[in-house]
Amino acid sequence: MLLRSLFVVALLLSSAGFAKAEQASVNATSNTDSCVFSTVSFATNFASGRLDDCQQTGSDSFTLHLKPENLPINPSPWYAFKVIGREAQPKPITITLMTHNGPARYSPKVSLDQQVWAPVAFSKTDQSMQFKLSASKTPIYVAAGEIINNVTYTRWLSDLEQGHIGTLGLTVENRAIPMLEHRTPNSQDWLILIGRQHPPEITGALALMHFNNLLWSDDPTVSAFRSRYNILLVPNMNPDGVHRGNWRHNRNGLDLNRDWKNRSQPETQALHTKLKAIEAEGGVIRFALDFHSTNRNVYYTMDHDYVTAKGKPLAQPQLVNNWLSSLAGRVPYKIENKPSHNQDSGVFKQYMADEFGVHSVTYEVGDDTDRAEIKVMAEAALRTLIEHL
Ligand SMILES: [Zn+2]
Repeated sequence: MLLRSLFVVALLLSSAGFAKAEQASVNATSNTDSCVFSTVSFATNFASGRLDDCQQTGSDSFTLHLKPENLPINPSPWYAFKVIGREAQPKPITITLMTHNGPARYSPKVSLDQQVWAPVAFSKTDQSMQFKLSASKTPIYVAAGEIINNVTYTRWLSDLEQGHIGTLGLTVENRAIPMLEHRTPNSQDWLILIGRQHPPEITGALALMHFNNLLWSDDPTVSAFRSRYNILLVPNMNPDGVHRGNWRHNRNGLDLNRDWKNRSQPETQALHTKLKAIEAEGGVIRFALDFHSTNRNVYYTMDHDYVTAKGKPLAQPQLVNNWLSSLAGRVPYKIENKPSHNQDSGVFKQYMADEFGVHSVTYEVGDDTDRAEIKVMAEAALRTLIEHL
């Protein structure tokens, strides 16, 4: 018994710490952090990889700690790491993910190639999730969601083969914020689409991609729409946060979707500069969508009768209500339209109302929404929106 206790104590003392990802050099595409134990290692040396520190708590049990980039923070504990067995034979291990500064949120997914992901059975408490894996020489990726990193966006935008790919501006760490811009000589009207202000919100990112895969396709309805509308797409507003696997913030530790009133950050400033340039050349911004994830599918909208501080009602007051009613009639899923306003919130939809006098919507997708449903909803959202623009 004594021997066994000593053994456990020795294991408890065996922990490995990650150098903070924040210390990585500005231009590095990955960090080289890893926790190495005798039988298994946990590595985050890839884009969007993230863990904080690790402990071995038994011969085949490991506790991995999830901590935010800074505080205070809205708790969205992202994690992404590789599990690599160090023995000749595969070894069953138990992993406990321990969340600090917030409840456990994202259920674990596994992948061999970062392309195809599968859920893994797990048990959960408020602050932890536990699951079993077989650790072998072939690395297994474990993550809070499908990994959609900065390179993914660059390739995806190229694959759309439409519009003009450019750079909206640079992040705090001088990463390019990619944009896709479509201009038609037939109209001054603009649709604005943005996403990924919050790095872990993968289901929102998937919705944005499905929405845009259709929007930039040769489908006759969307082709006709493109001939009468200009479009600006900024799918990844927070490349630094995406690269680092941040829970919420940009490199300066600020929530971009609380910064639209102050616009203190290069990311919000870059889009503001672009939208003002569009206006200055005679463009008319008509509508915007901002893709996110939360605990359910919900459309956060502006009150249809919202009046700005300057006393101006928004253009097309029933646009959003009419669109979401059409969408509700088109899909077999619940459509929740949740209007509100708060002039001090600093959220994007409020900024669009106060700065450009238009409605816009925070398009929220549930963290666990079925992936096929995300696609059906996003495509129906586009087709019905076109009918009202
Ligand atoms: Zn969000």
